[in-house]
Amino acid sequence: MLPPTVAVIGSHSALQILRGAKQEGLRTLLICLKGRERLYDRFRLADRTVSVDSVEAILEDGIQDLLEEEGAVFVPHGTLISGGRLEDLEKRFRPRIFGNRFIFKWEYDRDLKDRLLREAGIRTPKKLCSYSEIDGPAIVKLPGAEGGRGYFIAKSPKDFEAKIRQLTDKGLISKGEEERVFIQEYIIGVPVYPHFFWSVIEGRLELMGCDRRYETSIDAIGRITAEDQLELGITPTFRVIGNMPLVLRESLLMDVFDDGEKFVSAAERLVPPGMIGPFCLEMICDEEGKLYTFEFSGRIVAGTNLFVSGSPYSDLLFDEPMSMGRRIAREIKAASELGVIEKVTT
Ligand code: AMP
Repeated sequence: MLPPTVAVIGSHSALQILRGAKQEGLRTLLICLKGRERLYDRFRLADRTVSVDSVEAILEDGIQDLLEEEGAVFVPHGTLISGGRLEDLEKRFRPRIFGNRFIFKWEYDRDLKDRLLREAGIRTPKKLCSYSEIDGPAIVKLPGAEGGRGYFIAKSPKDFEAKIRQLTDKGLISKGEEERVFIQEYIIGVPVYPHFFWSVIEGRLELMGCDRRYETSIDAIGRITAEDQLELGITPTFRVIGNMPLVLRESLLMDVFDDGEKFVSAAERLVPPGMIGPFCLEMICDEEGKLYTFEFSGRIVAGTNLFVSGSPYSDLLFDEPMSMGRRIAREIKAASELGVIEKVTT
């Protein structure tokens, strides 16, 4: 049997995924959004490129047929989750997807996400059912996963009302959105995003890297004086601009692995067939070193783009540079050689 082709949509972490597939000797197929072809041509990582008008085009019969003819394994990333149409992806997309296609809606829906983390027994920030319950710092999140656009911190119900008004006036929140917000205890601490890989083939949890996000304007307010911060009446937002590498205190790694393992076992119970491949727990670490997970991603995260040549953690596990993209390709290759591709795809 021919080794599978790795297929990916051109955005998010596509370069890393394509490069990883080439390193493992697999063929690559790029599904490229029109207008971006030249960018991907520059890197010469795609054996074949098909241009599409939108992300949703992967649901079209023509593209699905092509993927099946190529014997492709489609590798999902963040663009797919933010694009919506997750139900169609679950039910109407025929080609093999690397990972668990049924976990994406749990990632997209804040209530489901919260439930999975809670049932995993992972420490999470307290969820508030109504803004009237706010009695300490709380973070207010708007519906959808839009890079923290319009998130804010409120200290009391009154503060909440004032800030909603302010954001509506600025056009950052549209009418009606304020009723669908998700309110959570705000943890004073620093962000920590460990990148995990659950290998079904090896039966082990691997820590492949760690990053923190660079978010505007929350990471910008420390650059001006406290006086100016107060005078300007800034309402910080959390729009992700990039990622910065992180190595953790070694003593934190025990808790990081414990949480990763709890997540894998909860996913197996609640979202069969469970976790396959890359995922990330988005955590805040407080001053006592306690980790609070406020989000998860059930697929490769963009923070792994930092480690195209491996990370301090992947270097400890592998004798060669191992990006997340390459790790994915290696798992696909191993599963294919063992004749168990269905174990790593859905
Ligand atoms: P999210 O869209 O949920 O990934 O949140 C965007 C950003 O808000 C994160 O990267 C964190 O910096 C921050 N954040 C989210 N939830 C919390 C929380 N419960 N406590 C503290 N910071 C948070």
